[in-house]
Amino acid sequence: MTEYKTKMLIIGSGPAGYTAGIYAARSGLNPILVSGNQEGGQLTITTEIENFPGFPEPIGGLELMQRMKQQAENVGVTLVTDLIRHVDFSSRPFVCTSENGNTFIADCVIIATGASARWLGLDSEKKFLGFGVSGCATCDGFFYRGKDVAVVGGGNTAADEALYLANIAKSVTLIHRRNELRADKVMQERVLKNEKIKVEWDSVVDEVLGEMPKGVTGAVLKNVKTGEKKEISVDGIFIAIGHHPNTDLFKGILDMNEEGYLITKPDSCQTNIEGVFAAGDVQNPNFRQAVVAAGSGCIASLEAEKFLNK
Ligand code: NDP
Repeated sequence: MTEYKTKMLIIGSGPAGYTAGIYAARSGLNPILVSGNQEGGQLTITTEIENFPGFPEPIGGLELMQRMKQQAENVGVTLVTDLIRHVDFSSRPFVCTSENGNTFIADCVIIATGASARWLGLDSEKKFLGFGVSGCATCDGFFYRGKDVAVVGGGNTAADEALYLANIAKSVTLIHRRNELRADKVMQERVLKNEKIKVEWDSVVDEVLGEMPKGVTGAVLKNVKTGEKKEISVDGIFIAIGHHPNTDLFKGILDMNEEGYLITKPDSCQTNIEGVFAAGDVQNPNFRQAVVAAGSGCIASLEAEKFLNK
């Protein structure tokens, strides 16, 4: 149990957190960054990234995050592997306490806790989680070599996962609740052109089928337009239906929108509490891109520095 004192505490270790740290360290603020449960954030469970500038060849999400971490360490960010459990923003300096019993006393705080994967909310989905139901193709796709799998969702993540799985599995059924994909055009084209991927349009998963401990054997799909139900046989189901912000910690303390994303001042990362900033996916659900989160981390850090020098 350690008591840390710092000018700047950064909560979260995705692109926003690391970038905020890099800027702050280079400004001599000696920031402390608390990583959270999933060091490196959402990108560590993404396959290849080909739209982060500076990498002419695609780079793996995990590798990109490891490089950001290394860069943060190299410029002097103090990294602490821990999870903030409680924050007291009622007066300055702010006091945050962690799962491991550490206390962080900070003149300013940058929140970069990101957003986590969403689930369908079916009992059968919960029952087979880890037994055929997965939230990460990169992590679990390996187990489905030569098998039939399904992916739920119509965004870039679903498209990404479907394409990744098509390289491994025998077949991929993409289940989407509407009749057009939300994914970028280029991703849509790749999915629709891929002979291994079949799309079930206007469909949702009504039930995941299987038996324990063997796991998933199929799913009941429901057509949302006709109400018609049908069964498909699959060995694995990958849920890729978006994210929810990691802001439970700040409920009743910081302003947030209906979905729980932190509200910041226009063109700024400043929250409703002076000296508390929010950067990345936790305050911007619209873009959810690594490069945007990194940019946001930079803004938060520059704003925080200005605040500290006031
Ligand atoms: P999105 O919010 O973009 O898409 C979620 C998808 O899931 C939508 O198609 C949505 O349907 C569907 N959905 C949501 N809730 C349910 C539900 N309860 N039942 C069934 N379907 C549901 O999330 P993503 O995770 O795909 O992407 C998040 C962000 O990350 C995006 O901005 C994306 O562009 C970005 N991203 C970028 C990548 C890259 O550049 N390589 C890779 C992966 C993600 P509907 O369309 O009807 O709303």
